[in-house]
Amino acid sequence: MDNVFDYGIIGSGPAGYTAALTAASVGKKVILFEKDLIGGVCLNRGCIPTKTMLHSAEIFNEICNSSDMGIYADNCRIDFAEIAERKRAVVDKLRNGLERSFKNSGIVVINTEAKIIDKNTIAADGQDYKCQEIIAAVGSSPRVIKGMEYDHKLILSSDDVLNFDKLPKSIVIVGSGAIGIEFSRILKSFGVKVTVIEIAENLLPLADVEVSKRVERLFKSQEIEFYTGISVEKIEKLENSVEVYISNGKIIEADCTLLAVGRVPNEVEKIEGVTYIGDVAGSVQLAHFASKQALEKVAGIPFDKNLVPSVVYGSPEIAWVGKREQDLEFGTYQKAMIPISALAKSQCDNALDGMMKILVQENKVVGAHIVSREASSLLQQLVIAMQAELTVERLKAVCFAHPTYSEGILECLMRLK
Ligand SMILES: Cc1cc2nc3c(=O)[nH]c(=O)nc-3n(C[C@H](O)[C@H](O)[C@H](O)COP(=O)(O)OP(=O)(O)OC[C@H]3O[C@@H](n4cnc5c(N)ncnc54)[C@H](O)[C@@H]3O)c2cc1C
Repeated sequence: MDNVFDYGIIGSGPAGYTAALTAASVGKKVILFEKDLIGGVCLNRGCIPTKTMLHSAEIFNEICNSSDMGIYADNCRIDFAEIAERKRAVVDKLRNGLERSFKNSGIVVINTEAKIIDKNTIAADGQDYKCQEIIAAVGSSPRVIKGMEYDHKLILSSDDVLNFDKLPKSIVIVGSGAIGIEFSRILKSFGVKVTVIEIAENLLPLADVEVSKRVERLFKSQEIEFYTGISVEKIEKLENSVEVYISNGKIIEADCTLLAVGRVPNEVEKIEGVTYIGDVAGSVQLAHFASKQALEKVAGIPFDKNLVPSVVYGSPEIAWVGKREQDLEFGTYQKAMIPISALAKSQCDNALDGMMKILVQENKVVGAHIVSREASSLLQQLVIAMQAELTVERLKAVCFAHPTYSEGILECLMRLK
């Protein structure tokens, strides 16, 4: 092997693997460095394991609560070890698939830590590799709060929770972004007592405020305890439990605490001429944003950074794109909203919790906010409409199948005033 490549890529998460596979597909000579497991955070400690566990949680919930539909599942129970094993199997299968794709595409994979020397040189394992282009896609790590450092037993990061082989009886989750909300839903479904502490005024603070309020109502009905506008002052570690001191004077006891307080870009040499994409670039920390950045860089396919969908998984899903109502000046926009229960399909499915809200300016959709079963796929239709700059009239002219959640889009638009 001569050590000269078209692309040298560091990191094999969504940013790195998309860049590598895209470059290799047009015949470029690619070398990829990964110091840990192939697939990065998304595949090994993020999107995929959480969604696999969440699916088990949703099925369990649905089975246990299906007497309304004439289905009785007495003694419905979980075997958490088997759930954890299925999660591992899904992750392993996808990782093996990715490794096969690298092999079939002729990508040279070096399983070691790499260091950027200059804009055309990467050093790894005592060798220098010359690359026409270097892409650093080295990702991010859980934020550490001073005085509340992870000990991986009582003070946990999302990595630790994904490694549970036994469930705790109770947990305090600090932070209610997507990760905090998803873990609350998973653990509560499995019978863990969950308390969420959020420093902002509302749960899911990055969402439209009406969506946040809806999530708060859902949490109340699901008996997930939460405090908003409250910070954590101290975590006292006892032998096998924690005491979490919060700013309203309360002390919450639990078996452990999960800090879901954001992620920070991993450290990497900042060198002119090197491209930094994905979580390390420090803007939007989402897998699909990372892979679109890779496509933009390697295949020259641009994308609209203002039209990046956000999804929080679980029952019901929460999804949004574009402007939130609190971002818009009063009187400059139109708003249409429906409860999801207005849709025949939600009645058929007994999935009545949720809402859809569409915000319009100058006759075009500028924001969409959905809490519903299938919200992730539903939202994508509006992302396409927004990307294509369809007018409200053009969207109203679309024929939506019945009964579906999609016809909520038409229902909503017809209510625009
Ligand atoms: C619990 C959780 C759930 C999530 N769920 C979702 C979701 O549902 N949807 C979504 O869009 N996003 C989700 N995310 C975020 C998503 O995982 C990240 O946005 C995504 O992984 C970023 O991809 P990346 O390629 O930038 O970096 P990463 O996936 O972090 O990959 C970076 C890779 O670089 C390697 N690396 C670092 N330094 C070096 C070095 N010097 N040499 C060699 N290798 C190196 C690392 O080992 C790592 O494998 C979730 C994250 C978490 C933690």
